[in-house]
Amino acid sequence: MRTLIALADANSFYCSCESVFKPNLWNKPVIVASNNDGCAVARNGLAKALGIPMGAPLFKIRDLIEKHNVQVYSSNYVLYGDLSNRVMAVLGSMTPEQEVYSIDESFIKIPEFAHDSATDYARRIRAKVVQWTGIPVSIGIASSKTLSKVASHVAKKQEQYGGVFDLSTANNAEDILATFPVKDIWGIGRQYNKWLLSQEIETAKDLRDANERIIREKMGVVGVRILYELRGISCLPLEMTTKPKQEICVSRSFGQRITGLVALQEAVAAYATRAAEKLREEGQVAEAMIIFARTSPFKSEYFRQSVTVQFPIATHYTPTIVESARKAMASIYEPGREFQKAGVLMVGLCPETTIQGHLWEKDEGWEKRQRLMSIMDEVNGRFGPGTIEIAASGGRQIWRMQSKWRSPRYTTCWAELPVVSC
Ligand SMILES: [Mg+2]
Repeated sequence: MRTLIALADANSFYCSCESVFKPNLWNKPVIVASNNDGCAVARNGLAKALGIPMGAPLFKIRDLIEKHNVQVYSSNYVLYGDLSNRVMAVLGSMTPEQEVYSIDESFIKIPEFAHDSATDYARRIRAKVVQWTGIPVSIGIASSKTLSKVASHVAKKQEQYGGVFDLSTANNAEDILATFPVKDIWGIGRQYNKWLLSQEIETAKDLRDANERIIREKMGVVGVRILYELRGISCLPLEMTTKPKQEICVSRSFGQRITGLVALQEAVAAYATRAAEKLREEGQVAEAMIIFARTSPFKSEYFRQSVTVQFPIATHYTPTIVESARKAMASIYEPGREFQKAGVLMVGLCPETTIQGHLWEKDEGWEKRQRLMSIMDEVNGRFGPGTIEIAASGGRQIWRMQSKWRSPRYTTCWAELPVVSC
């Protein structure tokens, strides 16, 4: 049986989120700045066209910003996380086989009945997502995940396709693979890219047609899988993938269905602990975290919920992350549901050296923080969880984030609902 996989990828996701409730941004260059307004972490098409590089510190591009009236927003992961959840829910409603791959990407299996009209099917999905959420997505279709990534690049970059591109039926598929740089292939890191180039394997087509034995010797089974995937043989089932480095995800399916909140919190605390370790291993800190839980997609009344927590200062500090994860889980929990999977996704990653914190960066701050944590744990241990919360213990003033240009959290906060003037 033929497999058809689509990758739906939101266009300039954070910037699109900013534009949903601000139609005046639609024709303007927009960038989103990292926590504490340090550097550009997202750019829309017009901002990219101005030559603003990813990660550019704001003070370095101040002239460009002024000259071209670039709209700058402080990162608002609560808004982005919520809109992501909505986009994923719409995508998931079109097919039960969905893998939420990152905050703005999702693989979905094209159901068999739609195989002959996959482009039309994807167009309907796309129209539904934009109508229901306001977020434009590009959809690439192909017979494997790796090829669907290639297809989504084309869908996004080449306007004539209207946001949907089916590589499996395209008559220019060979040309596309022949011009697609090997370094942009999903799963090819810098080291492999270097080696492949030294072997004169420069494009997706070169790699597809490469000698399997040579690839296996150097890149092992991972390389062979990529090779097969490029040949249109699907080797990476949904959900079996490594996550991109911009995000760290720890998620598992449970051995048995979980219905109780305590067990769910335990699970998510363990994942959060692991996620924090991974962050420290890679010398990174996260600006925000998404907690999600879902029931089995193959049972009736499928339920998937997620919530985003934005840290006051990017962190890899286990107690902060675990505590936030447990609270977040409590906020999305619904009794009576049989949960099958939960996870923790750390987003907005940056090197720990760039933490733009204020007080905590200093040793004195760290000490205070450790002390605060131990006191909090002690009191909570004695009088019950949540007796003292971080925000309630006076931390809020100290930790307050500099987000001068943060948009309202339109979709998750009553006080910040969009206002319509008639
Ligand atoms: Mg995207």
